[in-house]
Amino acid sequence: MATTNPSKLAAIPSVDRLLREPAVATLVEAHGRPATVDAAREVLADLRSALTAGGDAGPRARGPGALAGAVAAKLEAAAAPSLKRVFNLTGTVLHTNLGRAPLPFDAIDAVAMAASGPTNLEFDLDRGRRGDRDDHLEARLRALTGAEAATAVNNNAAAVLLTLNSLASRKEVAVSRGELIEIGGSFRMPDIMARAGCRLREVGTTNRTHPRDYADAIGDRTALIMKVHTSNYVVQGFTAAVPERDLATLAHARGLPFVVDLGSGSLVDLTRWGLPHEPTPRETLAAGADLVTFSGDKLLGGPQAGIVVGRADLVARIKRNPMRRAMRLDKLSIAALEAVLRLHGDPDRLAERLPALRLLARPAGEIEAAGARLLPALAAWVGERGTVTLRSVRSQIGSGARPAESLPSAALVVRPGGGKRGEGRRLERLARDLRGLAVPVIGRIEDGALVLDLRCLDDEAAFTGQLAPAAPETGEPPA
Ligand SMILES: *Cc1c(COP(=O)(O)O)cnc(C)c1O
Repeated sequence: MATTNPSKLAAIPSVDRLLREPAVATLVEAHGRPATVDAAREVLADLRSALTAGGDAGPRARGPGALAGAVAAKLEAAAAPSLKRVFNLTGTVLHTNLGRAPLPFDAIDAVAMAASGPTNLEFDLDRGRRGDRDDHLEARLRALTGAEAATAVNNNAAAVLLTLNSLASRKEVAVSRGELIEIGGSFRMPDIMARAGCRLREVGTTNRTHPRDYADAIGDRTALIMKVHTSNYVVQGFTAAVPERDLATLAHARGLPFVVDLGSGSLVDLTRWGLPHEPTPRETLAAGADLVTFSGDKLLGGPQAGIVVGRADLVARIKRNPMRRAMRLDKLSIAALEAVLRLHGDPDRLAERLPALRLLARPAGEIEAAGARLLPALAAWVGERGTVTLRSVRSQIGSGARPAESLPSAALVVRPGGGKRGEGRRLERLARDLRGLAVPVIGRIEDGALVLDLRCLDDEAAFTGQLAPAAPETGEPPA
């Protein structure tokens, strides 16, 4: 049975007295009075409930030094940003949960400029009157894709929603059953169609769709034919899909637009860097698509954005849709996207300047050499808890691009020691300790080991720096 010691409770200082402690007064300077008062209250309440529960950490823990230290710890925890940098060692380069593409320096500079003061976001400097935010992007997008017109919104999900709503509201959209995909749990083509106010007309079967299936599906109520890049899954085996060129011909013969959701949509031919081929918006338009939509932060390597390129009359209808206002791209993203598009104007130097492409094109030999350099530091950090080895692995592009193809890479593989019993728990603990570092390290668990794919590790010093054994704690001076 817990007993309360009234004399110890009575010895708890008041909030005011704790705030007058010199160490706490300094905290007021740094964190402000309201936050420090709240933290001091919490610390004293914690102490009171510990004593009431019969526990007693000893007079040291009740001393002013310890209480001030507890207040400081609470304030620091509360002040730490929630969004922080992490090391993406998952082996998925464009990882949606980890923020997809890292931006190039040019884009970061542009974001800082746009963030720190007024810009000509929607202001025509030549004519001295209102402009359009697409003006900063459209000419470059036209040049890079060969399209007549372009517009950009918040993300590709919005681009698809807006396109469908603008062109096919209360009408039917013909899509192959093999392309009715779900991406990342929240983007499901049939749901987007419904929210866009369109009726989905499913065509063909999951594995095979033929031209006559489309021809049969098209009727008076059809507004357009849509093709969706199947992104994160592959249809293999006994399959058939209608080539874009044939779908375009079919659509145009019936006077309908042909719309392609490309998903990733690289603006350059990736095979040039030894990467698997991804269809480009230019190729898709050349094959007869009237509109193409794609993401800004997938293979394009830029900020979150959704881009629509294609026929001027159709883009004009999209721009007139009042829903566009709810999906418009913000000035920071416009600044970043413009810079990224500018870099695409010089494909010869793109791999040096665009981090997403640089990481994707990174040779396995270079990654393996990094592994050999980093292994001792990680092994020292793991210590008795397990073993670390360097192994060849395969990385994924991520964000739905070519899931079946992978890139040769190298990883440090951490295996917990101490036999089979409790192995899973010890592995989870190691993973959690790595996530708890100042710059959290995120790997993937595979076959009972923690795999740290080094493809995306670009700051080796920061990685090893935080693995260094912590300096011995200096004891609290006696209260
Ligand atoms: C990723 C993807 C989307 C969604 O794009 P976001 O930019 O994430 O909104 C839509 N369609 C396809 C085919 C995709 O691959």
